Amino acid sequence: MTDLIDLMARLPGLGPRSARRAVLHLIKKRGQLMGPLAEAMAQVSATARECLNCGNIGTTDICEICQSEKRGNGMICVVEDVADLWAMERSAQFKGRYHVLGGTLSALDAIGPDELRIPKLLDRIASEQISEVILALSATIDGQTTAHYIADQLPGVTVTSLAQGVPVGGELDYLDDGTITAALKARRAL
Ligand SMILES: [Zn+2]
Repeated sequence: MTDLIDLMARLPGLGPRSARRAVLHLIKKRGQLMGPLAEAMAQVSATARECLNCGNIGTTDICEICQSEKRGNGMICVVEDVADLWAMERSAQFKGRYHVLGGTLSALDAIGPDELRIPKLLDRIASEQISEVILALSATIDGQTTAHYIADQLPGVTVTSLAQGVPVGGELDYLDDGTITAALKARRAL
């Protein structure tokens, strides 16, 4: 039980205290929760793998999105992480394919283009006849440095980035100065 708590405490968002509570809860719900959870974890652990093309996580060498003919519409959305890809998919608005970089360029952490999936992205632009690359990267310094680096490598392809600004349901009074500045710069005619 101590081992289990120690392992759970390493999960993002959980500390030792929440790990203890979670383990106690699992033990109390052994039949409904702990057994099925252990089975699901064993199964995912045995079958989950990175898509060789885009870096998404699935159960096959090439993920469903990369396999789908319908998704081959000439658009690639570049994200940092699989969690970002899943967030984009939840919105169900993007009909193209993805490319997961696995992070951002960072001089501080010595992460260069070869540490990310940037060379593979450049291969895909040519082999999948990509006409537009949408950069959906973080609005951080590293995220924007990465976006500019990628844009510089892609002459002849339309490179766009997600708009930054006022969130849906957001009140101006609650936004920070940077967000308001970005929203003002990205304003458009009504
Ligand atoms: Zn894929």
